[in-house]
Amino acid sequence: MIDAEVIVGLEVHCQLDTKSKLFCGCSTDYRDDGPNTHVCPICLGLPGTMPGINKRAIEYAIKVAKSLNCTVIPESEFARKNYFYPDLDKAYQITQYDKPLAEGGYIEIEGDDGKERKIQLTRIHVEEDPGRLVHMGNAERGRYSLVDYNRAGIPLIEIVSEPDMQSPKEARKFLNKLRATLEYLGVFDSEKEGSLRVDANISLRGNNRVEIKNISSYKGVEKALTFEVTRQKNLIRRGLTVERETRHYIETRGITQSARSKEMENDYRYFPEPDLRPLHVQSWVKDIALPELPDARRERFVTQYSCSLNHARTLTGELKMANFFETVVAGDQKNLCSLAATWIADTLAGELNYRNMGIDTVDPKLFAGVLVLLKNGTITDKSGIEVLRVVLDEHLKGEMVETPDAIVKRLNLAKTAGDDGALLAAIRQVIAENPKAVEDYKAGKSGALNFLVGQTMKKTRGCADPGELNQLMVTTLKTMEH
Ligand code: ZN
Ligand code: MN
Repeated sequence: MIDAEVIVGLEVHCQLDTKSKLFCGCSTDYRDDGPNTHVCPICLGLPGTMPGINKRAIEYAIKVAKSLNCTVIPESEFARKNYFYPDLDKAYQITQYDKPLAEGGYIEIEGDDGKERKIQLTRIHVEEDPGRLVHMGNAERGRYSLVDYNRAGIPLIEIVSEPDMQSPKEARKFLNKLRATLEYLGVFDSEKEGSLRVDANISLRGNNRVEIKNISSYKGVEKALTFEVTRQKNLIRRGLTVERETRHYIETRGITQSARSKEMENDYRYFPEPDLRPLHVQSWVKDIALPELPDARRERFVTQYSCSLNHARTLTGELKMANFFETVVAGDQKNLCSLAATWIADTLAGELNYRNMGIDTVDPKLFAGVLVLLKNGTITDKSGIEVLRVVLDEHLKGEMVETPDAIVKRLNLAKTAGDDGALLAAIRQVIAENPKAVEDYKAGKSGALNFLVGQTMKKTRGCADPGELNQLMVTTLKTMEH
C-alpha cells in the first residue's frame, strides 16, 4: 500500500440557535409547521426589502470565535455572493468575504499519536442559510423537486480550518470537539436536523486535492474521507492521476461520486452588501463572557473527581454526559466517582448507543442506585449490567421504572456469598455432572478449572463473585482428593 501522507481540511457550516432569522423577524423553529410557513418578504428576497442584522446571532458568533481562540476583527463586512440555484430565491447569498468576523484560532484535539494537537483555523464568518430542496423520489432520479424557504435566512457560521488534519479520525475528533464547544456555549442545537454540514478537502501529499461537498453527519465525514483515502491510493498505485474535482458523498452507499467541476471564486462576483453597514464589534467583544469550556471541564474532572484522563475526555466530550455525571455524584454520592466514571463512559454510553437513546432520558437517581448496589457488593458487575438494561428498557418502553433494588429482588440477582450453601451446592452439582473435567483437572490440565468455574457461573446466573467462586471451587476439588 502507498504510505502517502493524508492532508485534510474542513469547512463547517453550523446553524446558530437563535429565535429569529439573521436578517428578519421570522421564527427559526419551524419543525412542526408546513413548508414555506416561516417566510417574509425579506427572507424571500423580494425587491425593495431591507435586511436588518440580528444582534443575538452576531453575539453568538463572537462567542464561538472567542472560545476557539480566534482574533475577532474590529470591523467586518457583509458581501453578496452571486449564484443561481433554486433554493436561493434572490440569486445571491449574504455572507462575508474579504472582511470576515474572525481570523486565526485553533481547536485542540487528541492526535493519532495520542498527543494534544492544535488544528489551526483560517477564519470564521457569518452568513445566511439558503432554503432547502425536497426531491420527490430521490436526488438522482426524482422527477421534480420542491423548494422550502423555511430555512432561508437562518444564521450560520462557517468555520474554515487549515489543511492540518492527518487522518479521517482526526477530522472526526475535530468535529466532536467543535460540537462540544458549541453546545457548552449554548449557541447550537446538535439534535436539529442539518444543524451542522461539512465540506471536506482531502489530498495525499504531492497529489491533487478533492473536495467532498455537503456531508450532513459526523460519522459521514469520517466515512467519506476514509473512502477517499482508499480511492486515491488505488489511483496512484495504478499510475493514474487524482483529478482536482468536487465530489458528493452518497450516504446510503458509503461512497463519493464525481460532481460538477468546482466554480472558481471569481464566478461568484462578490461585492460589499449595499444594504448593510459594516459591523463594528470592538467595544462589545470583551464584554461577552464565556462559560466553562470542554477542556477546562475535562481538567476539573481529573482534579476534582480523580477521573482518568480518558474517562474525563469521554465524559466532557458531550455536555449532557458531563452534566449527567455531575448529577450522579452530587452531594453525598462523592464516593461513587470512580464507579460512575467507568460505568457512564464505558457501559452506559454503549447501552444507550445500542438503543439509540439520549442520556437525558435516564434518571440519574436510578442510575446512582445501580452504582450503590455495585459499591456495597450486593451485586456483581455482570448483574449490574443486567439491572441497567432492565432500567433502560423500561425507560424506552415508557413503563414505570422499577428501582434497582426491586429489580435485584425480582430477578434474584443478589450476589451468592462464599459461605452460602447455594454456591457450594452449585459447585458440587457441577463437579458431579462433569467427571471428565474433574479428571482433567486432577491430571493438571489448566483449562479444566476454567470450564468448571464457567459452568458454575452459568448455574448461578452470574450472581457469584468470580474470585470467591474460583477459590471455593479449588478448595472443594482439593477436599475431594482425600
Ligand atoms: Zn423572514
Ligand atoms: Mn458558506
